[in-house]
Amino acid sequence: MKLRILGCSGGIGANLRTTAMLLDDDVLIDAGTGVGELTLDEMVGIDHVFVTHSHLDHICSIPFLVDTVGYLRSTPLTVYATRETANALRTHVFNDYIWPDFTRLPRPEAPYLQFREIGRDQTVTLAGRRITVLPADHLVPAVGYWLDSGAASLVFSGDTGPNDALWEIVNNIGNLRYLIIETAFCNRDYAIAICSRHLCPSLLAAEIGKLRLPAEIFITHLKPGDRMLTMSEVVAALPAYQPKMLEHGQVFEF
Ligand SMILES: [Zn+2]
Ligand SMILES: [Zn+2]
Repeated sequence: MKLRILGCSGGIGANLRTTAMLLDDDVLIDAGTGVGELTLDEMVGIDHVFVTHSHLDHICSIPFLVDTVGYLRSTPLTVYATRETANALRTHVFNDYIWPDFTRLPRPEAPYLQFREIGRDQTVTLAGRRITVLPADHLVPAVGYWLDSGAASLVFSGDTGPNDALWEIVNNIGNLRYLIIETAFCNRDYAIAICSRHLCPSLLAAEIGKLRLPAEIFITHLKPGDRMLTMSEVVAALPAYQPKMLEHGQVFEF
C-alpha cells in the first residue's frame, strides 16, 4: 500500500490543504481541499472515497470531484460512509440546492455517485487491501480508519477527542507501524478542544498513554496559525515517541 498525503492542515492557505489522502491510485481517505493536488487523470482513476465524517474540511472536494470526472468514467464514484454521514451528505450537500444530486444524475440508472454505508468495526477489502472502520468521538458521528496491507498497518484517527474505544482496537494490531492522529489545538485552547471534541497536546499525551504498542506517530489537523506552537507542545509532551508533523506530499509505503 502507498498512502500519499494530499492535505493534512486544520485550515487553508498557500501550501496548506485540508484532509485528503490518496491510497494507491484509486482510493481517497477523506476528500478535503487536498484533492486539488491531483491531476485530471489522477482524479479519473479514483473509484472509492472513504469519509470519516460530514464536516466540510473532509468532504468539500467530493462535489467538485464527481462533477469534474463523472462524464469521463464508466462507473459511479463510490463513497463509503456511516449511515449518519451519508444521510448528512444527501440532505445537506447533494440536495439540488447546494449541489446537484449526482446519485440520480445524469440518469438514475447510471449515476456519477453512489453511497455504500459502512459501520463500526466493518472491514472493506479492495484488491487485498483491508480498510477497517475505527471508532471516533467527535461533534458529529465520526470514524477513523485502519489500513492493513498484510505486511504492516497504518491507523488514522480522523477527527476525535479522547477515545478509549480506539485504543482497545489499536492495541491488538500486531503489525502496527504508523499512527496518524489529530491535534487540532494548542494547549491554550484546551477548553475549545474539549467542547469541539478535538485533541490538544495535553489530551494527546493522555491518549498516547493508552497505546501499548510501538508506532511512528504523525500529527495532523494543526491550526495554521498555531502549528509550530502546537508541535513544540506535542514534542515536549511525548519525548519517548519523537512525534512528527504530518507533511503535505509525504508518502507512506507499507
Ligand atoms: Zn470535524
Ligand atoms: Zn476536521
